[in-house]
Amino acid sequence: MNSNDTPIEAVIPSETSLSTFDGLLSAITTSNAATREILDPATGGVVGLAPVHSLDDLEKAIADAALAQPTWAALGHAQRSETMMRAADAIDAAAEALAELLSREQGKPLNGPNARFEIGGASAWLRTAAATPLDTEVLINDGETHAEIAYRPIGVVGAIGPWNWPIMIAIWQIAPALRMGNAVVVKPSEYTPLSVLALVEVMNQVLPTGLVSVVSGGREIGAGLAAHPGIGKVMFTGSTATGKAIIRSSADTVKRLTLELGGNDAGIVLPDADPTAIAEGLFWGAFINTGQTCAALKRLYVHDDIYDAVCDALTAVAAAAPMGVGLDENNVLGPLQNKAQFDVVSRLVQSAKDSGARVLIGGNPDPEQAGYFYPTTLIADIDDDNPLVQEEQFGPALPIIRYSNLDDVIALANGVDVGLGGSVWSSDATEARKVAARLETGTVWINSHGTIHPMIPFGGAKQSGYGLEFGVEGLKALGVPQVISG
Ligand code: NAD
Repeated sequence: MNSNDTPIEAVIPSETSLSTFDGLLSAITTSNAATREILDPATGGVVGLAPVHSLDDLEKAIADAALAQPTWAALGHAQRSETMMRAADAIDAAAEALAELLSREQGKPLNGPNARFEIGGASAWLRTAAATPLDTEVLINDGETHAEIAYRPIGVVGAIGPWNWPIMIAIWQIAPALRMGNAVVVKPSEYTPLSVLALVEVMNQVLPTGLVSVVSGGREIGAGLAAHPGIGKVMFTGSTATGKAIIRSSADTVKRLTLELGGNDAGIVLPDADPTAIAEGLFWGAFINTGQTCAALKRLYVHDDIYDAVCDALTAVAAAAPMGVGLDENNVLGPLQNKAQFDVVSRLVQSAKDSGARVLIGGNPDPEQAGYFYPTTLIADIDDDNPLVQEEQFGPALPIIRYSNLDDVIALANGVDVGLGGSVWSSDATEARKVAARLETGTVWINSHGTIHPMIPFGGAKQSGYGLEFGVEGLKALGVPQVISG
């Protein structure tokens, strides 16, 4: 079959059974005999039933993907892009139902930079991956030698994701893979499988059968995917510890890997910054998704000259940000997604309090409250060697460390074994860029933190991983480079 005689799938009507919460749930929970209850982290109530897939299901998904992939690749860029645009339309048509499911399963509120924002981001990223050109590049053409580089499809890509931004991150893995002519087998986090199952169900109204499928299960499914000879590349986002396990299990088949791992991002506030002007940006840099974000601001270093003013301004913003059940339209902060993460945040804040650090706000979860709510917490006058500074808290608790010497604070910012993002806050962009260039991280933002864009490459340094996502670099990462020279 060639690209001219392959039918394009039907246009998605604006109202389908997948445009409602109940329609989505029934589509994803009736497909398998073995199921497990998924609980709402804000209330403890049952959200829905997730299928429990087996290693045999994984085998079948990989075999189906391998069957579907050559035809998809043969469509060529233009037709694949067109189909991906229709998949983005399908996501938009189901956006409200997907946002509700995501909110109830993950805990994040509908509003603020949360569930609706995540669904909108997913379709935007899908469209950008579909629309970004990637032409064959002529390297040398001097009359004697003609050399060019192009990117062939890899085959079947494994996509393993975390529970914090389950839909957005799944799209970051699926979209460039599809665009480059690959099939994808997705393994969502065991904490948030429903959101990813629903996303793929919605996209599969448009995509060819078997091209993208979800295998929902525990770590054994992820490990099986990482070791499987039928998988050419693993896109992984999650913890550094799991990333190391994936490197090991993928070694025997020499898989390509993109690893987006943990971080402990530092922000440095220079003495010329305006505390009131930066407070809102600092707050959302740290507390987006209630702090459960890889590239969130996790350690804030503030110059002694403006330390108290920054603490005051940040506390005022924190006090005004409502936290609660995600489906309440007023809330912009939610619960931790799971008990294990709640325990991590509790332990780290306790270690800060035990050391004599000063609690500006929060720090005392209500034991009577249902759900894994940890109050918005700011901790001042904390030592740099405290566990709340040195470990990734991945929750709503920000340590604010006082500094007076620029060289010293840069050494502290670089003094961890991860390097995902960092930020510099100043009224002087030139000075800020000089400091930025000294930080050992994949991205440094000036006067913001964690702001990402589908055309700006994103990836980690040190043990935050390797490989780039987004933009042209992100597309190249989902192909096998081939040089033709002669
Ligand atoms: P995790 O590593 O516990 O789990 C991630 C996924 O890996 C899950 O789907 C899990 O089932 C799977 N898995 C577990 N063991 C496996 C194995 N041996 N082989 C293959 N797969 C396996 O991570 P998490 O707790 O879900 O996510 C939080 C972490 O992710 C944080 O450290 C955060 O910083 C990081 N993160 C990084 C980025 C980034 O872009 N760098 C983005 C989001 C989250």
